[in-house]
Amino acid sequence: MPLKVKIDWNTCIADGVCYAICPQVFEAGPDGKSQIVEQYRAGSETEGNVPDDLADCVEQARTACPTGSITVEKA
Ligand code: SF4
Repeated sequence: MPLKVKIDWNTCIADGVCYAICPQVFEAGPDGKSQIVEQYRAGSETEGNVPDDLADCVEQARTACPTGSITVEKA
């Protein structure tokens, strides 16, 4: 089952932690805020469907995000 990953730009402080940890899924977007890499994007820059084999990477980024801006659900 893929993962639904969302980034909240209202709270993201653009510190780059998530895309340093998991560049397979996250990258720098406008003003350094995090966005989903194009390959996994679903509808907008801040939403993605990510394959299960990247679950560990996504989870490490989610837990390391200092503002809790990344949410992950089973799709
Ligand atoms: S770790 Fe969190 S606050 Fe930092 S860039 Fe990523 S989503 Fe934004």
